[in-house]
Amino acid sequence: MAEIIIRNLRKTFGDFTAVQSSSFKIEDGEFFMLLGPSGCGKTTTLRMIAGLELPTSGEIYIDGQEVGQRPARQRDIAFVFQMFALYPHMNVRKNISYPLISQGMSKRQVTEKVAEVSRILGIEDILDRPVGGLSGGDRQRVALGRAIVREPKAFMMDEPLGALDAEFREHMAEELRALHDRMGATTVYVTHDQLEAMQMGDKIVVMNHGVIEQFGTPQDVYDKPASMFVADFIGSPPMNFLRFHGQVHPGASSVRMHHADLVIPSAREPFEGDLVYGIRPEHISLTDESDSRGEVVAAEYLGTTQIVTVKTPGGDLKARVPSGQTVRSGEQVGLTFNGMTATLFDNQSGRALR
Ligand code: ATP
Repeated sequence: MAEIIIRNLRKTFGDFTAVQSSSFKIEDGEFFMLLGPSGCGKTTTLRMIAGLELPTSGEIYIDGQEVGQRPARQRDIAFVFQMFALYPHMNVRKNISYPLISQGMSKRQVTEKVAEVSRILGIEDILDRPVGGLSGGDRQRVALGRAIVREPKAFMMDEPLGALDAEFREHMAEELRALHDRMGATTVYVTHDQLEAMQMGDKIVVMNHGVIEQFGTPQDVYDKPASMFVADFIGSPPMNFLRFHGQVHPGASSVRMHHADLVIPSAREPFEGDLVYGIRPEHISLTDESDSRGEVVAAEYLGTTQIVTVKTPGGDLKARVPSGQTVRSGEQVGLTFNGMTATLFDNQSGRALR
């Protein structure tokens, strides 16, 4: 097990900065997600922690030891890739035992370890099969087996489920999380899939263009997004944004937007300028009483709820309402916002006003 501390970590490739000064802490035993769009620097960050890439500057502490410039083999970290890097000519047993044999472990110990790991992963009955003919899921289990068999301090996983189809991916995500809960080893996991990050992670770092936008629990990043980028990247459909010019005062409990007063959580810093009122779809309800009105332009049925798109003077809004509520395209509806859950952003910087 390991606690990992990242301090002012930076990586440049020539003139290009892939990771800007990043700092965060991964607690011992945590399932930690690096989340962001393609090219934001997730993999580079992960590779630096694993020792596959050396930082341009900054420090990496694993259990209190600074290892930033040390080679991978001195860090005792296992790396699990997306493309199940297995030895195709070997059977499952040999693939899993290979790291132990190359460490010089005795034959009896190797047999015991492989038996234990294959029991944990439920692959005892395929140990003698060549990996070439296995399904994607079984191959991924073998790759995991090879990573966990040597009991490293931590696991680095780069989109490990990326090559699986959607349905199986969800199943493997649950399996992986259950495996982690049983073993308790610190795991750093790269994904661009916000749902996967929210479902699996204890903590999430959200990255964009090499910069950490926010670091927190899934609930923190969903309920209290630090920036418009996070509010938009997390949640499906994402947070609604209503843009307006106005001012907020410390302690104020509402803002004047267009012709309506909108409730906001109080105790804000004073601010005047271009504001954005951010509200999640599930915090908008459609009622007849409200003065804020709009026209229904679409409704998407999702089982117990539906996503209703309403055209308003401030732009289109998406509301998540019970699917039992009858709405018709073209009809006028009133909108009520649960303002205590809203977030105000400075439109220029994109940062949340706190
Ligand atoms: P993806 O999910 O697409 O892999 P990512 O968030 O993991 O994205 P990185 O792979 O860390 O992103 O890459 C961040 C940026 O650094 C990208 O623009 C990439 O092209 C660049 N980059 C990564 N490795 C190198 C390298 N060895 N040389 C030059 N540029 C690189």
